[in-house]
Amino acid sequence: MKQHAKEMLVGAGAGLLIYLTYLGYNLWPLVLLGILLYFLFLNTGLRGTHQRKYVTLLGAGARTSVDFADIGGQDTAKREISEALEFLKQHDQARELGIRPLKGILLTGPPGTGKTMLAKAAATHTDSVFISTSGSEFIEIYAGVGAQRVRDLFKNAREGARKAKKSSAIVFVDEIEILGGQRGKHSGHLEYDQTLNQLLVEMDGMGVDDPVRVLLIGASNRADLLDSALMRPGRFDRIVRVDLPDREGRRRILDLHLSNKPLGDDIDLDRLAQVTFGFSGAHLESVTNEAAILALREGFCSLRQAHLEEAIDKVILGEKMDRKPAIEEMKRIAIHEAGHALMAEIARPGSVAIVQVVARGGTLGHVRHTPPDDRYVYERDWLESDIAILLAGAVAEELVTGGRSSGSANDFEQAVSMARRIVFMGLSSIGVVDRQSTSPERINQAVNELLKSQELRAHRALDRHQAPLTKTVAVLLEQEKMGGEQLRRLLAQEGFQRPEGMVPSRRTWRKSRRSRTISSQWQRA
Ligand code: ATP
Repeated sequence: MKQHAKEMLVGAGAGLLIYLTYLGYNLWPLVLLGILLYFLFLNTGLRGTHQRKYVTLLGAGARTSVDFADIGGQDTAKREISEALEFLKQHDQARELGIRPLKGILLTGPPGTGKTMLAKAAATHTDSVFISTSGSEFIEIYAGVGAQRVRDLFKNAREGARKAKKSSAIVFVDEIEILGGQRGKHSGHLEYDQTLNQLLVEMDGMGVDDPVRVLLIGASNRADLLDSALMRPGRFDRIVRVDLPDREGRRRILDLHLSNKPLGDDIDLDRLAQVTFGFSGAHLESVTNEAAILALREGFCSLRQAHLEEAIDKVILGEKMDRKPAIEEMKRIAIHEAGHALMAEIARPGSVAIVQVVARGGTLGHVRHTPPDDRYVYERDWLESDIAILLAGAVAEELVTGGRSSGSANDFEQAVSMARRIVFMGLSSIGVVDRQSTSPERINQAVNELLKSQELRAHRALDRHQAPLTKTVAVLLEQEKMGGEQLRRLLAQEGFQRPEGMVPSRRTWRKSRRSRTISSQWQRA
């Protein structure tokens, strides 16, 4: 209705202008004045298109029914948030004790770990109105627009709570680093700084006696970019780390997202939780969804373990491609992947989850490794084995065909980066190094030493196991993929032995997950 009335008004206005021009009136000054007023209007951001955009933004995030029970894992984050929320729930006691209101909670952590869900659950937990927006929505080239939007955001939160007859509101700002980045660091200084200043003013204005208590929850993957004024106590009083889920958390998240899907008898959630180390909640949700799509495509009425395993590969690498390489190329890819898989079984028996020569996303073949358990500390030997496994693809190609190919480029990049990490962690032959004062030549020498020794190790190991290597290649060419168990059975039949005794050496105490994500895959040139 409103829209129609507006259109009729615009039409009538245009008609009047044409009629007046026809009568000989000079309308140019009027038109220029209109244009001027329109731009002034935009600049202040008080009304017009800008406010409409802002209102839809509020509508999109309004109210929610997510509960803490809908969030898998993240027990520490949930506990910290619910503790912090007590002041909203037990407002009167808080006032009696003279507790100043908590103004902000900052959730930091990698993408897809459930920060938005936690903020929504906080609103449910405290029976508050929930309003969500993103930092990028506040950035405009016109000075003052962002600050006005911040004012509007808090005003709308209070009004929304009043209308809904609630005494509290939760304002959630995703990507808050865009709005709350360090002042003076942006090219469009003034606008950014004004917007952040307004946010600080709003936070400072929150009082214990406000009829509607507002709590700001910010989420960021880059908390290091935030302005120190925002991080000081009295602004973001709680900083809650929302990390990638551990094994138990992953199992719980899988459980939650599979609860509305029919499951076959062979589903092993513990195994799935184990092989998905490093996955976020969003990855796990996608795995369950992709598995259901696969089951539907294949005409199953319930999900099977194979669907979930395949969905994991799809989430890591992408959709299967139709393109099939020529037979010679296929053979080289199979040799390469078999090299990675055998070296992995030699260095870490039982670690291969699947080896395949299927084109997916940007890769033509892939070995997925099963981590034995969630690990955060690695011995030097473990890290060196990563290098040997990465180089084993090229080594196998050399052993069988007499030469290497461009398919190893990505493996080499990962191997070099791992070697450099070993050196900088002080685990190489040159001991503890200082990045600034150690010469690049010395670093390079240590890196090359590591690469050479692991290349030699892979060469020796695969040379000793040429028969199992050939057999694995034959099976891969026939079946395209082999599960870890099938590979190990084949290796056992071929008299495969673990030739190396693993002697744990120095430990790396740095909490690190990156080394677990070594992914030996055949890259297209
Ligand atoms: P980003 O930083 O990219 O904004 P985020 O941390 O806010 O991400 P959410 O938007 O909360 O992540 O989560 C995205 C989706 O991932 C959710 O809709 C949900 O399906 C799933 N998810 C993430 N974490 C969990 C979890 N802990 N339990 C259940 N589902 C989860």
